[in-house]
Amino acid sequence: MTGSKTYYFDSNATTSVAPEVLEAMLPYLTGKWGNPSSPYRFGKQLVEPIEQARESVAALIGANSGEIVFTSCGTESINTALTSCLHTQPGKRHIVTTAVEHSATKNCCAALAERGYEVTYLPVNRDGSLDLKLFTQALRPDTAVVSIMWANNETGVLFPIPELAAICRARGILIHTDAVQVPGKLKLDVNALGVDLLSLSAHKLHGPKGVGLLYVRQGTPYQALVIGGQQEGGHRGGTENVPYLVGFGRAAALANAVPVAAQRKLAALRDSLEDEILARVPHTARNGAKEPRLPNTTSIAFAGVEAEALLMLLDQLNICASSGSACTTGSVAPSHVLTAMGLGPVAARSTIRFSLDYETTAEDVAYLLGHLPRLVAELRAAASPRAAARSVPAGLAAPAV
Ligand code: PLP
Repeated sequence: MTGSKTYYFDSNATTSVAPEVLEAMLPYLTGKWGNPSSPYRFGKQLVEPIEQARESVAALIGANSGEIVFTSCGTESINTALTSCLHTQPGKRHIVTTAVEHSATKNCCAALAERGYEVTYLPVNRDGSLDLKLFTQALRPDTAVVSIMWANNETGVLFPIPELAAICRARGILIHTDAVQVPGKLKLDVNALGVDLLSLSAHKLHGPKGVGLLYVRQGTPYQALVIGGQQEGGHRGGTENVPYLVGFGRAAALANAVPVAAQRKLAALRDSLEDEILARVPHTARNGAKEPRLPNTTSIAFAGVEAEALLMLLDQLNICASSGSACTTGSVAPSHVLTAMGLGPVAARSTIRFSLDYETTAEDVAYLLGHLPRLVAELRAAASPRAAARSVPAGLAAPAV
């Protein structure tokens, strides 16, 4: 390890808890630890902070507070959205989604398919974009829900949710979007988006892990997934996690206050990192369209390099980044997002995602750039010429080994 500072380029994985968020949460972890459902004031005093948090997260997305159901995470929110749409429309057994969703959606759909529901996974183009014609063709009279993410967590590529929602609305099909990666990075307005349901998670916007929400547009049929007491107006059982809800509310207020100028600055820093990597490290390529894209994310394939090996070397320098690969039973499975975009498994395994944050500085970027070209060169030199040749993504020349 070289010093104690962490150079964090993995904000799409999670973010730090903002000091203001921690400060807001602390009273509810210490003195105010009652149960909001209790009949006495020590418990009942907690109802108001929960409702204030609900107002705050609703304001972040342009919703009414009555349209917010708090959940334990983004994953629960997505599971609730999908199952609710199916259970409230028993005659409709078809789901439309994409091949590049987060595993929360992907694996929930796979589990639903095992229970007899039909799922259409829309393919994406090489740049990660959707074909609107294919989307429209996939819709059927028995489609219960369209569930399509707004921003991809691996590439940052945005899908045209307002257009998709308008098409769904014209056909009376419910549409849900996983907007987990969006808050603070883009303006979020459920009415401009036109969706019926939307999922968020607090830990992507400097809130605590283990709390999320499901937005359910007023009038949308709804059935709870977590069944128990009458918390959340009967929409989600379970004693409220008061400190986390309060923290989410504070984090939402902070995300809502991020000025457009700061978002532009973030995009400029990301662009400078991306441009410099592509210029200074030979045989690299960006995965996914340059625009429309989240302002903080870049996904880069380093031909001839095993991403996991590069991540380990970066880790030695206190640099955190990620690959889209999932380590399952000892073997590294290539990212389903990148393979759906047409990358071969070897090219997909050579990809690193760098995701920045408002806390990322030009010095952090300079530190990363100060080491990355050398590390990539070392790994390429260590690889056998045969392995290096096999690792070249389509369209890239063979790296010098
Ligand atoms: N959707 C996207 C796009 C994500 O990036 C994540 C988290 O990585 C989730 C859903 C799941 O959120 P949570 O970790 O709160 O379950």
